[in-house]
Amino acid sequence: MTKWIYSFGAGQNDGNAGMRNLLGGKGANLAEMSNIGLPVPPGFTITTEVCSAFYENGRKYPDDLKAQLDDAMARVEKAMGLRFGDANAPLLVSVRSGARVSMPGMMDTVLNLGLNDQTVEGLARSSGDSRFAWDSYRRFIQMYGSVVLGVSHHRFEDLLEQTKRELGKHDDTQLTAEEWQMVLKGYKDIVLNETGTPFPEDPQDQLWGAIGAVFGSWMNPRANTYRKLHDIPASWGTAVNVQSMVFGNMGEDCATGVCFTRDPSTGENVFYGEYLINAQGEDVVAGIRTPQPMAAERATPDQNPMEKALPEAYQEMLKVRDLLERHYKDMQDIEFTVQSNTLYLLQTRSGKRTAAAALRIAIDMAQEGLITKEDAISRVPPASLDQLLHPVLDPKAERKQLARGLPASPGAATGVIAFSAEDVEDRASKGEDVILVRIETSPEDVHGMHAARGVLTTRGGMTSHAAVVARGMGRVCVAGAGSIMVDYKAQTLTVNGHTLKAGDWLTLDGGTGAVYLGRVPTIPPTLSGDFSTLMGWADSVRRLGVRANAETPEDAETARRFGAEGIGLCRTEHMFFGPDRIGHVRQMIMTEEKDARAKAIGALLPFQRDDFAALFRIMAGLPVTIRLLDPPLHEFLPHGEAELKDVAKALGQDVEALRARRSALSESNPMLGHRGCRLGISYPEIYAMQVRAITEAALAVSKETGKAVIPEIMIPLVGTKAELDLVRKASEAVIASVLKEQNATLDYHIGTMIELPRAAITADKIAESADFFSFGTNDLTQTTLGLSRDDAGSFLPEYVEKGLLPQDPFISIDQEGVGALVRMGVEKGRATKPDIKLGICGEHGGDPLSISFFESVGLDYVSCSPFRVPVARLASAQAALAARKAVKA
Ligand code: ADP
Ligand code: MG
Ligand code: MG
Repeated sequence: MTKWIYSFGAGQNDGNAGMRNLLGGKGANLAEMSNIGLPVPPGFTITTEVCSAFYENGRKYPDDLKAQLDDAMARVEKAMGLRFGDANAPLLVSVRSGARVSMPGMMDTVLNLGLNDQTVEGLARSSGDSRFAWDSYRRFIQMYGSVVLGVSHHRFEDLLEQTKRELGKHDDTQLTAEEWQMVLKGYKDIVLNETGTPFPEDPQDQLWGAIGAVFGSWMNPRANTYRKLHDIPASWGTAVNVQSMVFGNMGEDCATGVCFTRDPSTGENVFYGEYLINAQGEDVVAGIRTPQPMAAERATPDQNPMEKALPEAYQEMLKVRDLLERHYKDMQDIEFTVQSNTLYLLQTRSGKRTAAAALRIAIDMAQEGLITKEDAISRVPPASLDQLLHPVLDPKAERKQLARGLPASPGAATGVIAFSAEDVEDRASKGEDVILVRIETSPEDVHGMHAARGVLTTRGGMTSHAAVVARGMGRVCVAGAGSIMVDYKAQTLTVNGHTLKAGDWLTLDGGTGAVYLGRVPTIPPTLSGDFSTLMGWADSVRRLGVRANAETPEDAETARRFGAEGIGLCRTEHMFFGPDRIGHVRQMIMTEEKDARAKAIGALLPFQRDDFAALFRIMAGLPVTIRLLDPPLHEFLPHGEAELKDVAKALGQDVEALRARRSALSESNPMLGHRGCRLGISYPEIYAMQVRAITEAALAVSKETGKAVIPEIMIPLVGTKAELDLVRKASEAVIASVLKEQNATLDYHIGTMIELPRAAITADKIAESADFFSFGTNDLTQTTLGLSRDDAGSFLPEYVEKGLLPQDPFISIDQEGVGALVRMGVEKGRATKPDIKLGICGEHGGDPLSISFFESVGLDYVSCSPFRVPVARLASAQAALAARKAVKA
């Protein structure tokens, strides 16, 4: 007989935290908490296998499920001393969905299930509080009506708002039992009108209805989309948790709350939480009432911290905090309810956190001895380091504070106000920086939050939708700035006598919660000590070298600051665009006369020499790989008439002749046209000038600093060994003549990009003439997939959506296809020359997933944009640790 149901609480725990796949995250952790002796209201988990069986059998439950459920329910009844459906003292339950990973789109929780016109009277009598009983009943109809029966929740909310208006009451807690009865009658009418059937009175029907709705929600469109986006197989299924109710809405000695064992925003080792007295379920996150802080030291004088209001339960909670953190060895996000001063735990899970908090918590926990250094390295998501590099407000800048909310997600953002997600997208698409301002946010606003620089809400706490989503996205967020009045109709916000319209400037500091008038300048962040500690640990375990793609002194400085071990790709083409240079470049291309070309190229030499010398100086002896000119010539052509005339004048040539030359040079497919080493072969003078500039700069900086500069000269777009031989020979001749002129010696390397399939396939031959390879995975992706990066935008997203490609191959390397060519290039290159240096310099060099692939094929280094260098260092360390683990296993 298959066991479909696992009990938890009141001394019988069939499950534990390790059974996540079977019991879902919520169910497994409820059992685990109960196992370690924490007060969890008893209940049971219907396994994910039931969900799978349900779908395999045409939406039918396994035959013996009902019997097992009746048994499990009987156990809960016994533990609680109550009976489900009993008219005198009814057992009420919650029905909660819970998949392996938390998943939006799944059914929301239904509380107070088991109430009907009879049992509500029983609850009123047994609790001695009829107001509470009727409040619970109307909550139940509202939740069940919207979540299970599919009635729009607005219908219920509108009726409640209207009733409150008529009664002149603001807060739900002010309504009397009789008034709730009135609301409830209206609710039932809504259900009857909307669904054509009366609200189900039989508790058994209610229970099976809710269970069916959870399983049904596993296949709803929202859940399906989410699974697709996150690679979650449909076969995983969801579990259902049925749990006896505890009540946070039974009076002033009751409460409900959400807390984190450490500050999820900064990672500081302080208890962090919010709660509401006399409230139930998700009141705290729903933004209906503004929650209060739990710790007294975090409260302002007008607030009512739990530490003071419910001291016993608060002290219990402190113990729980310690226990759970030591047990799970990670920061926990805990949901609890206090019923008549007694604490109950309803959920624990590893808490979502900002990048800064993830870093700090990992380092602190390793230093506290809770986890190892290796654990700490593995715990920080490399991509999240990007967020630490967020700007902050310029401390010297003038500012006028308008209001203060909660520091919900760090960083500083300045932009123009928009009051709807649509308006944000509109403005952002025109290149504006936008701040989304809402009373509170909901899932419909997520696209607007994404397009915004920052989000400001006037209601809700640190765990509100806005706060959680913004933290996850790395957007700045100030939440619950209650003194600001938002008027969506008028498209204005009013605060302290100021009225701002959509389109006016506003600045947020998500680190302090401050809201400033107008535009306050921001500056780049300073990195914390934790950051360098983690980087140091990462460096001590990684095998891959990390270099940067940099061509300006500024980029090179940034790269060094972030720990780059050299430059893996210096693109020389951007250097040609300087206003003092582009004229010479155009003359060089547009003339067919050798002398004029030589003159134009000669004019470029001192510029290039200075460019390279600056990089060599900054890199102080670290390797610098300089790629000779690569892009299609058309990028440099004089496009407009005025430009053409300028070139003609400088060359003393006829405009008409130049026009003809320009059309002769234009190509229909430039990315596969006259570019890369093909340019160097047609115009050897260009490469000769560049090689001379590199050599002279290297000699000069070596002399100046006393540190040998060993330049690496890289030839782009090589497809055959013969091409490389030709360019190599010409380059060596130039180097030799410079050395002779200066009577000097120089160590140098000449290598090539591997960025055409043919190059990878013939890498054994090419390696005979190359000192190093650098895989140019951007072009290699284009040429392997036959996919132009500039044109793929119109259909690539659809490919990923339909699962035709696992992800955008320009973001994360296509391991199966492009990756196979990289692997082949590595193997063939090393077969010819075992000590050939192998690197990669495409965008993939900063992508964690790609980096783990490069680790596995045994490259020597990755090279990425300067801001991704920390990401690459950490990702390389994680890849090395994973590789070690795999060897051990
Ligand atoms: P979610 O997955 O959205 O967090 P939960 O199943 O955790 O949904 O339920 C939301 C909230 O409902 C919980 O935080 C808790 O406050 C409340 N809740 C759930 N079950 C019970 C219960 N048995 N007794 C009291 N409150 C409950
Ligand atoms: Mg939910
Ligand atoms: Mg929850």
